[in-house]
Amino acid sequence: RAKERGRNRWELHRPAPSDPNVDRLRALGELRRGIGEGALRVHYQPRIDLHTGRPSGVEALVRWQHPTRGLLPPSEFISMAEESGLVRPLGAWVLDETLKLAESLRRDSQAGAALEFAVNLSARQLNDPGLVSMVEGALRRTEMDPAMLLLEITETALMQDPTAALESLTALKNLGVGLAVDDFGTGYSSLTYLKKFPINELKIDRSFIMGLGSDTGDSAIVGSCIGLAHAVGIRAVAEGVETEGQVEALQTMGCDLAQGYLFARPLPEQRLREWLSANA
Ligand code: C2E
Ligand code: MG
Ligand code: MG
Ligand code: MG
Repeated sequence: RAKERGRNRWELHRPAPSDPNVDRLRALGELRRGIGEGALRVHYQPRIDLHTGRPSGVEALVRWQHPTRGLLPPSEFISMAEESGLVRPLGAWVLDETLKLAESLRRDSQAGAALEFAVNLSARQLNDPGLVSMVEGALRRTEMDPAMLLLEITETALMQDPTAALESLTALKNLGVGLAVDDFGTGYSSLTYLKKFPINELKIDRSFIMGLGSDTGDSAIVGSCIGLAHAVGIRAVAEGVETEGQVEALQTMGCDLAQGYLFARPLPEQRLREWLSANA
């Protein structure tokens, strides 16, 4: 008896184990509030045209300025946003921000006029029946040429339901925007779909770019991805380029565009403007 009481008392003083559901709800609440209160940030990573060596555009990458945890990368909150549906308002906001920047750069400079602006879409957004009107509305609020906007969808998201994806991509394409397959090589797309999808570029996953020059397997894979892109008449883009050696290998293989820390990290808007003036 005494022992039992003792144990009960001890349990009263033991800190409550953290409940993953409670943690998740708290984090979700924080993210929802964060979105409402303007805690999201967009950073922009330049893309380089490997044929000319000049910047050809930027990719918008979202961050969350968390009240206590600092600036969080998408890996800390995108899947939560995706599962909860918050990715819709989040995605709409990232698109609006990016188009605003695009317009302002176009007004400010000659260089900004020709830049392309890439925005990532998640699987959930791709399946959202409101996606096309969301993108259409965002474009209508600007004077941007829709062709200057590029929407990136991961190979994995596209292949979850290729038939539905084909329908969404076709509707987006009809708005005049460009489409990119992101993280290419990590999913299982069939050549049939690659040919059918109305896409403009393949972005070769960073994991293959890393081994360029050192891993003959990776070099062969990157070479085939570039060949595949060109065979279906679209551009090949290398992501995660970190060394001059990788650039040389990519140029030799005819890769069209590259992005990576070697050229620039994702930058907040003001730093991007500075980078563009220095590198235009
Ligand atoms: P992603 O679209 O494949 O973006 C490329 C990621 O690689 C970015 O990570 C970028 O910062 C990182 N990166 C670029 N160059 C290098 C390099 O040279 N070395 C290394 N180690 N990394 C490099 P980030 O910003 O953490 O974004 C991760 C992923 O989150 C993105 O992958 C994208 O799938 C997703 N994401 C980002 N922003 C959004 C968004 O607004 N909406 C949605 N739905 N997803 C987003
Ligand atoms: Mg991307
Ligand atoms: Mg990618
Ligand atoms: Mg990636």
